[in-house]
Amino acid sequence: MKHELPALPYSLDALEPVISAETLQFHHGKHHRGYVDKVNELIQGTEYIDMPLIEILLKADGPLFNNAAQAWNHSFYWQSMQSKQSLPRAGSPLSRAIDKDFGSIEKLRGELKRIAAGQFGSGWGWLVKDDSNGRLSVMATSNAENPLRKRLIPILTVDVWEHAYYIDYRNDRAKYLDGVMGLLNWEFAERCFSESTLSRTIAA
Ligand code: MN
Repeated sequence: MKHELPALPYSLDALEPVISAETLQFHHGKHHRGYVDKVNELIQGTEYIDMPLIEILLKADGPLFNNAAQAWNHSFYWQSMQSKQSLPRAGSPLSRAIDKDFGSIEKLRGELKRIAAGQFGSGWGWLVKDDSNGRLSVMATSNAENPLRKRLIPILTVDVWEHAYYIDYRNDRAKYLDGVMGLLNWEFAERCFSESTLSRTIAA
């Protein structure tokens, strides 16, 4: 099975001025493509040759895990943002869970920003759902690590590798995060929250 680089769900300049077309061009066209190409190279002649990406992410270790997880994480990251500002729909299951577990959408954004800004070195900030009780929480993961390996369901993610913000913000990760918090795709988050279970995500 040959893994393909998914197209961005918007044009290269759709996230400007928060994320420039130049950043998206490099981030998607070079970094993300590089992870996908490396997965295709590493699975040759192995038991992973016909596995979906998600299964590789759950089973592999070492370089194959790193590249498969980075390929998956980036696809999820592109979907976690959109060009227009949005909010969860009032009264939706996600809205109710946010109010219960964080108090408000502003507090959630603050917590996600805090944990992503505080990740030491490369990694990701996540909004996740515990499949057993539907509870929301935020977490940071290091390098390529993904919450699914801890049986938590991704709802949104933000990339805090330097390549995500260095062209636009140099070393100012906090400023990048301020911008990204306004671009979070709550329609996508609502779908993930309402429709994703661990078994369904893993089977997808
Ligand atoms: Mn990245």
